[in-house]
Amino acid sequence: MGKIRLMDEWLSNKIAAGEVVERPSSVVKELVENAIDAGSTSIEVFLEEAGLSSIQVIDNGSGMDEEDAQLCFARHATSKISKEQDLFRIRTLGFRGEALASIAAVSKLRLVTSDGESGVELELEGGTIVSKKPGPLRRGTEITVSQLFYNTPARLKYLKTIQTELGHSIDLMNRLALAYPNIAFKLVHNGGTLLQTNGRGNVQQVLAAIYGMQNAKKMIPFRGESKDYIIHGYATLPEISRASKNYMSIFVNGRWVKHYIIQKTIVDAYHTFLPIERYPIVVLYIEGDPYLTDVNVHPAKLQIRLSKEEELLPLIENTIRNAIRGHMNVPLVQKKE
Ligand code: ADP
Ligand code: MG
Repeated sequence: MGKIRLMDEWLSNKIAAGEVVERPSSVVKELVENAIDAGSTSIEVFLEEAGLSSIQVIDNGSGMDEEDAQLCFARHATSKISKEQDLFRIRTLGFRGEALASIAAVSKLRLVTSDGESGVELELEGGTIVSKKPGPLRRGTEITVSQLFYNTPARLKYLKTIQTELGHSIDLMNRLALAYPNIAFKLVHNGGTLLQTNGRGNVQQVLAAIYGMQNAKKMIPFRGESKDYIIHGYATLPEISRASKNYMSIFVNGRWVKHYIIQKTIVDAYHTFLPIERYPIVVLYIEGDPYLTDVNVHPAKLQIRLSKEEELLPLIENTIRNAIRGHMNVPLVQKKE
């Protein structure tokens, strides 16, 4: 008899969880992105001990019926793509159908969901449904993840301090709030509110909630267009700068991405105006046909491949540079010492 065995689903879920669920903020990311994909206009996140003891996400989106509520924890279960072509035209944040299976595999989880017609409440332990009962009829979904990594002690050990883990979730929520100014977000940690946006669609109000009113007021808008891409956003004048590149947020079709070449292009737009090792606060929205983007690079989908970079990069550099220069022609008020 040969030695090769097909893994059972429980084992393969645990392995997949290693890629998708790195730390509490990965859980927050997957749950909030699901809430966004479900068309929510309000998303609240409650963390206890930076999410190590509990992560709760409450949305007012489409909700699920009983059948979907049970199916959503199966690996590769998704309502977002069904055929190969869909993979090249992704308009949702999720599509891999892996997140809930992975999260459930390494935690104790409670799901309360309703599509407005019926409601169901499920409890899972390590991915297995241990209880099912009727739930309230409030349309939307509430997922509570407790004791994350309780059954993967090695991963638990690798986690950093509460402060570091919380920092990751705050950073993530800030970016999601910037990406979706039309959604009202709330982030609460141990009972204290850390971020709240009003969902009225005003990017500058979100910037103010995150970077403070003073900075937000001084950010200037920009907008540019090429054959395949539209870009827009806000950027600080060189007088406001930061020691970290983390204040530059790049969104491609609503997805926050880390793209080092685009980051460098933004910095290049400032030419020599920025002091060395200083970076601007920038929020850059890039919109183009999903066909031009490949998000299927890594399970966390933070990296992205873009077609026609040779068109996009000069567009970004010129648009931001012109916006900044336009404002710098206005004589700057000199602060008297
Ligand atoms: P994916 O997002 O890649 O489809 P997930 O494992 O994250 O995979 O979710 C599986 C499915 O569960 C989704 O496709 C969606 O149909 C459903 N789902 C998950 N979260 C929600 C939610 N908050 N509201 C409504 N449906 C949800
Ligand atoms: Mg998802």
